Formats: sequence, structure tokens, C-alpha cells
Amino acid sequence: MRGEFDFINFVRRQTEKKQRPSGLAMGIGDDAAVVTARPGNTSVVTTDLLIEDIDFRRHWTPPRLLGHKALAVSLSDIAAMGARPRWTLISIGVPSSVWKTNFPQEFYRGFFALADQYDVALIGGDISGTPDRIVVNSTVIGEMKQQRHVLRAGARSGDLIFVTGKLGGASAGLRLLEAGGQAPDNHPSSRPSKRRGFNARELVMLRQLSPTPRVGWGIRLGEQRLATAMIDISDGLSSDLTHLTQASEVGATIEVERIPVDPLVEQVGMKNHEALALALHGGEDFELLFSVRPRNRARVPKEVDGVPATLIGEITDEAGRLQLQEGGRTRVLKPQGFVHFAGRGPSQK
Ligand code: ADP
Ligand code: MG
Repeated sequence: MRGEFDFINFVRRQTEKKQRPSGLAMGIGDDAAVVTARPGNTSVVTTDLLIEDIDFRRHWTPPRLLGHKALAVSLSDIAAMGARPRWTLISIGVPSSVWKTNFPQEFYRGFFALADQYDVALIGGDISGTPDRIVVNSTVIGEMKQQRHVLRAGARSGDLIFVTGKLGGASAGLRLLEAGGQAPDNHPSSRPSKRRGFNARELVMLRQLSPTPRVGWGIRLGEQRLATAMIDISDGLSSDLTHLTQASEVGATIEVERIPVDPLVEQVGMKNHEALALALHGGEDFELLFSVRPRNRARVPKEVDGVPATLIGEITDEAGRLQLQEGGRTRVLKPQGFVHFAGRGPSQK
């Protein structure tokens, strides 16, 4: 299987092994896919690029985990809209030296493992050669009942701010990888329940290389109209909270003691204040950050899919002002997360 068309047939056969999803009139094999939204639903569409040496390093990224991550980052965006993911398209550009390896098969193995977990159907994509770097583009189409989408705008003064899961693990994992850490290559599945047997170092590297998108949380918050505003944490809490508050034209106060710092970060040897800095500014945890009207506080689920949400602060009416509260003291919180074209590569992410 070396040619482009052999490969597309290989991918197509994988999709045909699965039960045909309702609403799919034409999947892989024509000039474009044809899908029908469920009656009364609206579609949400998102796309993401992963570029070698900007978003990942080839030598520390097992291909299967790259396939997983390519889909995971787009599923996370769909979750952040409060929608249910349904369809995906994936395009890969690889140099011929990589094409000759088992990279493509392994990449799709990781991709399909995650897609199957959430019943997301692959309906198309593209393949091309590149001069020397790997390029991956993923697109996901989701659905939700009309008017249930959750934007970054919508938070009001007095709303409570929640975040799912734990923060700081992914950027701690990136530091270990940069220092020569070796991620487990035999990672069987993206399901955290199957991540037994890994030590703390391996677990944080997997947080970086193989993030779990909060699909169940996104669907729940959207369906129940619980979140007034939402964003996924890809650039870091301080940056993504800035994005949410700017869109909503509000401010926010976060209580330091409440931030759910991932205990793994200290377990891999970082000091308490470093762990807090990673939880505040480190990116790629792909947790959901959302606001809720105070009267709906008790309706927020304790956990979804075994993942809790933590109340970390409150929306204020001082637009543009983010504050951190610690003990009795208050200081200004500046966004310090990742920015492309700020003269910083992935090593400073
Ligand atoms: P075109 O020249 O029109 O882009 P292709 O031969 O690339 O045609 O695509 C033919 C079909 O195969 C389309 O349905 C396309 O979505 C699908 N396809 C191509 N590459 C991939 C891929 N990497 N993964 C999934 N589907 C693919
Ligand atoms: Mg094509």
C-alpha cells in the first residue's frame, strides 16, 4: 500500500467496517461528503492545524498519539461550544521519508480509536506530500439543538467561574519531553481508565501528547443551558480567561487556593509555585472553562465521565480586569499563555 489511492481505500475500508451513521448520505469516495443534520439542530464546524516543530516534535511524538491529538484538539473546540461531535475530516501532508514508514497506519489507528470512542465518523480528508515537515489538519462538525450553542460572550457580572479537571499537567509534560523524557509508545487507548500502570512522568507526558477532550461535559452544559459562556483551555487559563472575559466585556476574580493544580505536577518534581504558574499560564490542558449564573450553581454536575468541575472564581463588572485573590491579597492577573508569532516556539509554550 504505497500510493495515495491505495491509502485512501485503506482509510475508507476502516470507515466501512463500522455501522453506517444516520444522516450520512455520502462518506469517503466522492468529491465531497454529504450529511444531513437532525431536524431542529444546528451545525457547528471547527478546524485545527498541527505543524511539525511548531505544535509538536516528531522525535518525541508517537504517530498514534499524533493521530489522537489531531482529533482531540478539534473535539475540544466542539465541546467548548456545547455541541455533540458527529463528523470529522482529516488531512495530512508528509514527506516521502515518513510516508514509507508505518506513520500513516499508526496515525490513523490513534485517530480512529478516539473517533470511535465518541461515535464520530470520518467522512473525508486529503493527503499530500511535503518537502520535509509533517502537517496535519483536522475538521470536526458537531450538532446541537437550535439556540443551545455556548459562546465566549455571554458571561455576566456575578456569574460563577468553573473549570473541569486539573490544570498544569500538559505543560509539565512538555517540559519533561523537552528535557529528553520518553513518552510511553504502547499507549493502548485515550481512555484515562486504561492509563493504569503509568508513572507520574509518563502520565504528564500523555497529558501533553494525548489530551482527553471534555466531550461529555460540553454536551451536558449545552443541552442543559447551564453555561453562560465557555472556552476550552488551549493557551492557558490566564489567556483563555482573558479571551472569555473580553468577548463577554466583563472582568474576573480567581481565587488561587481554588485552582485545581494537577497533583502530578509536583509529583514530577516541580515546586509548589512552579506548579501554580503552569496551572495558570501553561497551555494544552484542554479543560473547559465556563461561567454559570449563581442561581444555577447547584445544577452543575459534580462530575461527568468521572471528571469533576471546580468553582474557581467569579465574573465581575470591571471589563478587562482580571484579578487573583490569595489570602487577603489581590493582584492583577496578566495573560501569559501561548501566542503564535510572539517570537516564541514550542519550547516556550
Ligand atoms: P480530490 O482530488 O477531489 O481531492 P481525493 O482523491 O483526494 O479527491 O479524495 C477522494 C475521496 O477520498 C474524498 O471523499 C476525500 O474526502 C477522501 N479522502 C482523501 N484523502 C483522505 C484522507 N486522508 N482521509 C480520509 N479521506 C480521504
Ligand atoms: Mg484530494
